[in-house]
Amino acid sequence: MKLVLGTRSPDKIREIRQFLRACDCVPLPEDAPVVPEDQPTFLGNAEKKALVLAQALGALVLADDSGLEVDALGGEPGVHSHRWAGEACDDDANNRKLVRSLEGVPEPARTARYRCAIVLAFPSRVMDRAEGACEGRITTAPRGTGGFGYDPYFLSLDLGKTFAEATPEEKLRVSHRGRALAALRFPRTAP
Ligand code: IMP
Repeated sequence: MKLVLGTRSPDKIREIRQFLRACDCVPLPEDAPVVPEDQPTFLGNAEKKALVLAQALGALVLADDSGLEVDALGGEPGVHSHRWAGEACDDDANNRKLVRSLEGVPEPARTARYRCAIVLAFPSRVMDRAEGACEGRITTAPRGTGGFGYDPYFLSLDLGKTFAEATPEEKLRVSHRGRALAALRFPRTAP
């Protein structure tokens, strides 16, 4: 059976496909509905996206909702990570806002984590839910060119380098998304 990846983010698609390489993962069709991400939690948004898309497409859908929680910002940007600096959803603008918001915050207080919720749904039924998190610190300057989003500023405590400095395999092994995918009971192959 084909597994539809319920996201329009090419970066997420790349990471999920890399993990689920034994599955027949297909992208969202062009005319799939756009599901508003208006729930207060990552799990709520992932579940809503997975169920609405599975029902609309009559297919098995895997949806991911994820984001960055910064302790010194009371957990922001959280579920607003994608649009934090505005509707343009521009990674550079989001990162400029992150740097500005943490100006003067000393290194030990720059703790943060990425969180990811993944839901697998078949029309009108959630088949599985899983969550993953990874701890880090926000750097004052960008490091590395890989990854996407906030990765150049996210210093992974597991790796001792930013996710933008890590190889795709290293990131997937310790990342919020890799951990959520590993916790899914179906269908997967280990990286
Ligand atoms: P979503 O599409 O609502 O789940 O938004 C996810 C947003 O969170 C992305 O646009 C990024 O800003 C951020 N994000 C989530 N996962 C990652 C990651 O692995 N690296 C960098 N940024 C991420």
